Amino acid sequence: MKTFFHVDMDAFFVSVEELYDPSLKGKPVVVGGRPDQRGVVSAASYAARRYGVHSAMPLRTAYKLCPHAIFVDGHSDRYRQSSAKVVEVLRAFSPQVSMASIDEAYIDITGSERLHGPPLEAAHKLHERIRAATGLNNSIGAGTSRLLAKICSDQAKPNGVLWIAPGMEARFLAPLDVRKIPGVGKVTEKSLHALGIRKIGDLASLDTALLEQRFGKWGLALAGKAQGLDAGGWFDGEVGGDEEPKSVSHETTFDKDTADVVVLEATLAKLSEMVATRLRDYRLWSRTVQLKLRYSDFSTYTRARTLDHATQIDIDLIECSRRLFQENWNGRPVRLLGVQASGLQGDEGQVSLLEEEKNQRWKSALSAVDRIRDRFGASSVSLASSMKGSFRERAHDALPDIPGAKDHPKRRK
Ligand SMILES: [Mg+2]
Repeated sequence: MKTFFHVDMDAFFVSVEELYDPSLKGKPVVVGGRPDQRGVVSAASYAARRYGVHSAMPLRTAYKLCPHAIFVDGHSDRYRQSSAKVVEVLRAFSPQVSMASIDEAYIDITGSERLHGPPLEAAHKLHERIRAATGLNNSIGAGTSRLLAKICSDQAKPNGVLWIAPGMEARFLAPLDVRKIPGVGKVTEKSLHALGIRKIGDLASLDTALLEQRFGKWGLALAGKAQGLDAGGWFDGEVGGDEEPKSVSHETTFDKDTADVVVLEATLAKLSEMVATRLRDYRLWSRTVQLKLRYSDFSTYTRARTLDHATQIDIDLIECSRRLFQENWNGRPVRLLGVQASGLQGDEGQVSLLEEEKNQRWKSALSAVDRIRDRFGASSVSLASSMKGSFRERAHDALPDIPGAKDHPKRRK
């Protein structure tokens, strides 16, 4: 029997800002910029969330909902420092640690009972250590699977510890909404509701064959998840077993170095599309886009930008990589171009309504595009400007062990 913890920092960005300005504590705080700026909310304090403010919402909307909120700029250096302290504590606690994001980690503590005590005691010990090292609140879920640990940490918030004893998994899960299963987004939730399935318990009592018939492999995985298992190829690797950088990328070397801006931008668009297609194949969303530029003398530059919201949509990646290119290309002939998506996550997180509408339109257009691509090959449909010159590309996938990401069917039907 395995024991996993899922450690999740509470309102991470806001809590870090509070360390630097304790007067913010308990108040509605919006991290991301001033209310009159064009950007979006990076994070909102629990007090601000009560007014409906959430991350990825335009700052101006946040201001309308909660005009008395305190708006502060984000400081990624501060977040990275705090995150590094958390990682240090986790690695001292268990050799098997996988960071799922800047403020979230899975750890495998199987067999550490002699060192740390039984699971609940161990979780409290770790909770205290993180608090002592960082001054930040965190929540820890503990259970026999990573799925369960993840759901538990969410239920434990804020600043709590929750352990589900072996054998109690199904009873704990039964009354929770299906949406609580990581990987179940709006679309799956809607299909499940249409079948009359609202709670995880409903899902657990359903015939597995029906789920498979309805959702394919994803249905089988869902059936396992409803039992609290890392089911259906979930979390194939060991915790801490794979420390590869998590990214999806395409790059191409030109047959002949070129400074033709039309060729360069068209190539970038094509590469971005290919990356976006693969993100959709894997059902992953990316927050960070990186451009790679290599000149004739082999000097190589990489420049990255973090998006306002996670995406798997061509146009977002195209726009971002093009902007990076325009800001960084020095006009000299280029030997190689690359586009990489990282900061991968298993769902798109919260997006503003406007964004959501735009995304929905793109998604339906793109799923049609992907269907045609699947049938006729990648070169059949392209949103990018026409390509000049031949095109050799290399692909790199280093996929994260995100809940639900791997067991989604690789290709849509
Ligand atoms: Mg968190």
